Amino acid sequence: MKQLRERYDLKPLVIHTNYLINLATTTEVFLKKSIEAFRGEMERALALCADYLVLHPGSFRGADRERGLTQTAAAIAAASRGLDLAGGRLRILIENTAGAEYSLGASFEQVAELIDRLRDHVPIGACVDTCHTHVAGYDIVTEQGFHDTLEKLDATIGLANIPVWHCNDAKAERGSRLDRHQHVGKGNIGLTPFRRLLNHPRLAEAAFIAETPIDQPGDDRRNVATLKRLVSVRSPQVQSLRSRR
Ligand SMILES: [Zn+2]
Repeated sequence: MKQLRERYDLKPLVIHTNYLINLATTTEVFLKKSIEAFRGEMERALALCADYLVLHPGSFRGADRERGLTQTAAAIAAASRGLDLAGGRLRILIENTAGAEYSLGASFEQVAELIDRLRDHVPIGACVDTCHTHVAGYDIVTEQGFHDTLEKLDATIGLANIPVWHCNDAKAERGSRLDRHQHVGKGNIGLTPFRRLLNHPRLAEAAFIAETPIDQPGDDRRNVATLKRLVSVRSPQVQSLRSRR
């Protein structure tokens, strides 16, 4: 893995935890299994020398939000007990969610609160998904909305705590809370917000990942190519890539 990463200049390495993990669950047996599964994800991420492990904060059906948050923080702390994440340079990233009923983390404030509660237990940050942000109700489409939403992000989670972004267009309307990813530029977000995001001077160090649908073979490559085309050629990152070639 290390050799291949060097050969293909793959960095950072970001792993997504499996979607069955729900650390906010009120069912005891699911909680036990979720903690075990999440610990397994961390062990494998450490073995692979991954940089980030992305986690959805889960769903608290049957309890209240406060208990969901408290339990999630406690479960992450319990799952990571005895693992040297800092020494392995592995950081857990909490992803903002679409905000379906009972799900945690649809507001930037909730993600920020989880991060605050976990800071003493694990190296922690956030991963922001553009589709989830849009359907959770934040405006990233208009120029003013994009600016305001980024300011809100900075005031809550802090842009410096967001090393990874998921660049997905949205099939659903803003505020619909429906998590349906769409090809970049083909949904309700459109190309312009992605151009603003990819060229934002304060996000020059961030990694951008497409989690778009694969309806036809090659859709993944086409979405990444679309994102690359949006990066301004004047950006210092692209220039340095070019000069390296
Ligand atoms: Zn995502």
